[in-house]
Amino acid sequence: MLTYHNLSGYLKSKYHGKVAKICIDGGFTCPNRDGTCGFGGCIFCGERGAGEHINPLGSIRSQVESYFSKQPKADKFIAYFQNFTNTYAPVDVLKRRYDEALIDPRIVILDIGTRPDCINEEVVRLLAEYNKNYEVWVELGLQTANDATAQFINRGYGRDVFANAVALLHKYGLRIVVHLIIGLPGETQADVENTVAYLNQFPIWGLKIHSLYVMKDTALEKLYHTGAFVPQSMREYIDSAVYVLTHVDPDLIIHRLTGDCPKDLLVAPDWNEKKTEILNTITSIMEKNQYTQGIFF
Ligand code: SF4
Repeated sequence: MLTYHNLSGYLKSKYHGKVAKICIDGGFTCPNRDGTCGFGGCIFCGERGAGEHINPLGSIRSQVESYFSKQPKADKFIAYFQNFTNTYAPVDVLKRRYDEALIDPRIVILDIGTRPDCINEEVVRLLAEYNKNYEVWVELGLQTANDATAQFINRGYGRDVFANAVALLHKYGLRIVVHLIIGLPGETQADVENTVAYLNQFPIWGLKIHSLYVMKDTALEKLYHTGAFVPQSMREYIDSAVYVLTHVDPDLIIHRLTGDCPKDLLVAPDWNEKKTEILNTITSIMEKNQYTQGIFF
């Protein structure tokens, strides 16, 4: 039984073959780190601004080329600009860097990870140009709809900024993928429910659901060691994830359902590595209760 629409199912039905992701460090930084809107970044963010597994050495082109040999069985590819804020530069720089990645006709999707406060009409127009020849996804890290939590985690923008960015991206027909984190400091199940209700107002296309994990050398690690942050249990995470799946739009594409921290950087919780068990338990709860995605939407 199909209990939710996952990304691999979407890609298989649309592209009729194996679609692999090319994770790219485009050489950007983040306004929440360089002082434009804040210093230090979000409290869970590592030194590499997500995409810790990416080898930062080499040009964008060489990073892309290395994936072709790593994934010989893939028929198509997604060029995913992952690290830091990939719309945080003048548009001519953005265009140069995106073009440097789009070097092969097997690349069919341009996927851009960014922040809502780095979305403006000029950037969106550029992305809309790519959208004529590629499927363009824009990933926004909302994490929570609770502005008090957002302040605590040092996200650096309020949710009205998110709403404006979504409206602009939608106006230009771009696909929006939102990141949501379950288990943020001080949050309860009620916060998860409020965040889902908030998200359900917007024309979003995809969702990445992460558990909050503590990574080495982050502000969250300090909170963890002082006891000010206690990670939730695996079961709590699973129950919240099931809530999210059953209450979001049934047509949303679920891009991710677990956190993904490199082994050598993970401080806690240790269950974060049990990816298969987490996914299997979510599916078995959904099946046992005859839940499907969006059944309570
Ligand atoms: S917006 Fe992204 S890159 Fe910037 S500090 Fe937060 S998590 Fe890190």
